[in-house]
Amino acid sequence: MNNLGEKARLHLAHADLTVRRHPKTFSAIVTAVLTLSGVTAFGVAPLSMVDSTPKNIQTVTESVSPEGLAAQAEALAEYEMLLHRSDLTRSTDTADTLLRRLGVSDPEASAFLRKDPVARTILSGRPGKMLRAVTESTPGGGELQELVVRGPASDDAHLTSHFTRITVRRTDHGLTALSEQVPMKIETRSGAATVTTTLFAATDEARMPDHITGQMADMFDNDVDFRKDIKPGDSFAVVYEAMTADGEPVTWSGATGRVLAGRFIHGKETHEAVWFQEAGKKGEYYSLKGQGKQKAFMASPLAFSRVTSGFAMRFHPILQTWRAHLGIDLGAPMGTPVHTVGNGVVNFAGVQNGYGNVVIIGHSGGRETVYAHLSRIDVNKGAPVTQGSVIGAVGATGWATGPHLHFEFKVKGAQVDPTQVARASESSELSGATRARFEGQSRQMHAQLMESIVRPVGKLARVE
Ligand SMILES: [Zn+2]
Repeated sequence: MNNLGEKARLHLAHADLTVRRHPKTFSAIVTAVLTLSGVTAFGVAPLSMVDSTPKNIQTVTESVSPEGLAAQAEALAEYEMLLHRSDLTRSTDTADTLLRRLGVSDPEASAFLRKDPVARTILSGRPGKMLRAVTESTPGGGELQELVVRGPASDDAHLTSHFTRITVRRTDHGLTALSEQVPMKIETRSGAATVTTTLFAATDEARMPDHITGQMADMFDNDVDFRKDIKPGDSFAVVYEAMTADGEPVTWSGATGRVLAGRFIHGKETHEAVWFQEAGKKGEYYSLKGQGKQKAFMASPLAFSRVTSGFAMRFHPILQTWRAHLGIDLGAPMGTPVHTVGNGVVNFAGVQNGYGNVVIIGHSGGRETVYAHLSRIDVNKGAPVTQGSVIGAVGATGWATGPHLHFEFKVKGAQVDPTQVARASESSELSGATRARFEGQSRQMHAQLMESIVRPVGKLARVE
């Protein structure tokens, strides 16, 4: 609207000469133009001037050649009479509520959206589709000229590559609807901000989509505790891919880009990571020095838990004797999913004496992890597992006083303290030709990252 008002004001200055020849046209244009600009006080004055004191209008007249003016005014009238509005579909939308929000008052269009086999798909499926309507600018809403709707691809296989564009258009023969599958484009965007209250307030300020915020938290998971540790003054910058449909970042889930580089400053520590994919391998985040951010072992097989019994000597509650506790106990409700902490193969899945239902995973380097007292086992012996996959659920089978997970880490048959393992575990490192390629890419990403900090989307984003 701002832009339109600006344009309207500009054209007003040039319309004076036309008014002498076509006073009615001018008055109509002024009305149209002022309706659009929405400046009421401004609107009343010039209208009365047209009727009584046309002299006043002359004060805004510029030296322009009279020839083009009539055409210009006509073009202006035609152009400015149309109103463009954008919005998103909502789960509660009906044809009427959707059109009303877009400033459309058009029973024919409403009926068309309900009945036409193509147009009616606008209101089906998930909400959050991007709408753009062109209407006549009639007070109280105008007739629909064009409605363009952009939403997810029609089949799941193309969710990350295509979008659906439905165009409803008024033609000489009434309304028509066309549905197309159009390739999305990937754009590189950046965001940076400093935390003043919460992380999410800061990422909103940087206009980062939620899934990008989530990826940023994942990539620095081993460096910063995003659940507890974020403090005012912490700052971040990310360079990420945004999927766009006709130039607009898509609003629906399933078509999400990736964080390409990130920097998180937490207190006095600076953490940086870039995305890199080795030929024929899964991509991963690396430090600028080329060290993988992902450790071979996760800190805990449970997403949220507390250690109720550590790795030490203890008085066994059931056996009533002192003995070494060769693992740790993690308190969690019955049924909580249990994740394998590293890649490996299932060496055992079944029942064993005190352990109850137990899963034992074999990892590289003669290492094993043990998950005991499970209420449920989700894997079979011999099956390969990847870090983070669910292998069962917390229970109280075997010698357990209540639901908890008994977790052991063995190196060549001997139990070690699992809490020390994850932090000390190896991460992948790049070498040789791959490393040279990484360094080129990493330098470029780092430059983009620094640029996003200097010219941030949000305010307060400059970091030293
Ligand atoms: Zn235990």
